[in-house]
Amino acid sequence: MSYSELDRPAQFLKSVGPKRAALLAKLGLLTARDVLYHVPRRYEDASTIRAIGSLEPGMDVTIIGRVVAKGVLPTRKGLRIFQAVVQDRTGLVECSWPGQPFLDRVLRRGDLLLLSGSVRFFHGRQLQPREFTLLAREGEEATEEEGTVFPVYAATEGLTHRQIRTLIAENLDDLLRAVADEEVLPADLLDRAGVPPLVRALESLHRPGSLAEAEQGRRRLAFEELFFLQLLHARARHRAAVERPGIAFERRGTLVSTVYRTLPFSLTTAQKRALVEIGADMLSARRMNRLLQGDVGAGKTVVALFAMLRAVENGYQAALMAPTEILAEQHVRTLRLLLGDAPVQVVLLTGRLGAAARREALARISSGDAGIVVGTHALIQEAVEFHHPGIAIIDEQHRFGVRQRLALAEMGEIAEGESRIHPDVLVMSATPIPRSLALTLYGDLDISVLDERPPGRRPVRTGIRPEGARERVFEFVREQVRLGRQAYVVYPLVEESEKLELKAATEEYRYLREEVFPDLRLGLIHGQMPGEEKDRVMRAFAAGEVDVLVSTTVIEVGIDVANATVMVIEHAERFGLSQLHQLRGRVGRGAEDSYCILVASSPEARERLRIFVSTEDGFRIAQEDMRLRGQGDMFGSRQSGAPAFLFADIERDESLLVLARVEAQRIIEADPELERHPTLRDVLTSRYEERLRLFQAG
Ligand code: ADP
Ligand code: MG
Repeated sequence: MSYSELDRPAQFLKSVGPKRAALLAKLGLLTARDVLYHVPRRYEDASTIRAIGSLEPGMDVTIIGRVVAKGVLPTRKGLRIFQAVVQDRTGLVECSWPGQPFLDRVLRRGDLLLLSGSVRFFHGRQLQPREFTLLAREGEEATEEEGTVFPVYAATEGLTHRQIRTLIAENLDDLLRAVADEEVLPADLLDRAGVPPLVRALESLHRPGSLAEAEQGRRRLAFEELFFLQLLHARARHRAAVERPGIAFERRGTLVSTVYRTLPFSLTTAQKRALVEIGADMLSARRMNRLLQGDVGAGKTVVALFAMLRAVENGYQAALMAPTEILAEQHVRTLRLLLGDAPVQVVLLTGRLGAAARREALARISSGDAGIVVGTHALIQEAVEFHHPGIAIIDEQHRFGVRQRLALAEMGEIAEGESRIHPDVLVMSATPIPRSLALTLYGDLDISVLDERPPGRRPVRTGIRPEGARERVFEFVREQVRLGRQAYVVYPLVEESEKLELKAATEEYRYLREEVFPDLRLGLIHGQMPGEEKDRVMRAFAAGEVDVLVSTTVIEVGIDVANATVMVIEHAERFGLSQLHQLRGRVGRGAEDSYCILVASSPEARERLRIFVSTEDGFRIAQEDMRLRGQGDMFGSRQSGAPAFLFADIERDESLLVLARVEAQRIIEADPELERHPTLRDVLTSRYEERLRLFQAG
């Protein structure tokens, strides 16, 4: 892109000298372009301003007026109240801020304020402001005349949001003129997305006629971000398909149909749909790169089985990697059961095998005798040589690092030397994340969703109990154990420190074992335990040798203990809704009624937990979780702190996101390396590649 006026240092702007420029730099605004893109943080909507003369007690209002008198009043109870009298052309009103005497140093006589709050009767009319914005100091040009919606900018010490507003207002026309030829999105694309061109968007953001107009401006910038991210994803998908062609499996129908006929249940519609999607990928010469998303218990394993059988009946091998040994062992049992007499060898490979057993497993893998290989990360750590790998499946993919996933996906490359084989890849996840987030995080994958539970599963009865009812809760646990069932009691991670966590866990455990359930068999799992120890306790629980399992960590994912019918979650308010949902998924796996009991006392907590109590739909819960926590948190540990998007909000902008994906895909299909779209290509390279990298590393 050629040099533009917008690349000039901010100091060349009107009303900006060296001192101001230094302050702008503190906000990260170095060039004129930076200033133009410094869009308001929020807006004050003055289009609903009421005249002070018309205020009545009971109203909730927004007003604008000047401070004509102010001071701090002590009350008899020792509370200090800041009061200010505010005037407009129609009258006066007293405003009162209890407990905020410091405002006396912030506000001055002559300040023009925008205030909102409710009017009450207290020796006359009195406004108790919820919030206020300082629009202008005495003598400063009042901005009342400029419009009815006031932009409020992020400011810094020494440079107020009002000064920034004035500065931008003064320069805006020049800046907009300069940005006019920087439109990067084709006009027809803007039309289809229903968003304005860049110049109009920036004008609407800085000088909106209404809040709706400002929002249209934001949507334009948001769409651009989403579109370029999807363009990157689409290009990555395309390149992967070209550089790493897959295997075109054939529909032999030998194994798949035999096993299908002997299944002890019929597949859900969602499972069938996922199998059709996976089947199409496998039959095509393009390599499969698919995410199978399905709530706990949605039945992902059987879907994985049929994908593996398709590979096996074509003479290839299949690998299934699970995050823990118990889970891998459980998969082997399940698969063997479902396979019945079908001629497929299932081999287990974990770190726990003895030397002889391991040698044998490795030999069967390299000879091709093993059709299906199930294992932990031992699959990628050991010198495992597949004879003829066709598909790699990763269960509970979020438990693995990107590198581990890649390592399994690339297993064929090592095995085949020169003639490279690229096994199909299916990653499975039980963490139901909203579609918008999945499209953003895993935009380079195709996605299948199991959004339906197998029939016949009983709902888990979920309830909230206050702390005071804990004894009754434990009594209920005891009753269930007496009926031959088992229970989980989960404590949240209370302390950041490992030592303290260990102490808390062991103390709770001792309390439960000695004081509450001296007659029952208890087990403990906590985060500081070595993996082997955890496995040992889990195994004992699965074998029915432990009645009540006390845990401080999230219990092993995917574990199936059908006899466990109670899940007690202490301090439930400290867990995120999605986390609670994962925990609840541990019960309700058998034929008996199951219960999930949340112990939480505060009314706010109980309010927040309501949606969780009312539904078992993991996607709805995840959506609500995202709404409550904000999307930032949903990305997990994002230490980099790099914001995913500056303007987009993937929840609010979901329809824009979906549209961006479709449009990006269309462009890449016709012009994979963007040779006919040089502007898009340049912008992608110069502005978005690095951002995506940071974003995915987070
Ligand atoms: P997840 O998606 O959590 O991995 P699983 O594959 O472990 O779920 O399946 C959970 C349980 O549901 C298993 O016991 C499985 O046999 C059973 N199941 C799977 N699909 C169906 C179905 N269509 N009808 C009935 N039961 C099913
Ligand atoms: Mg599973």
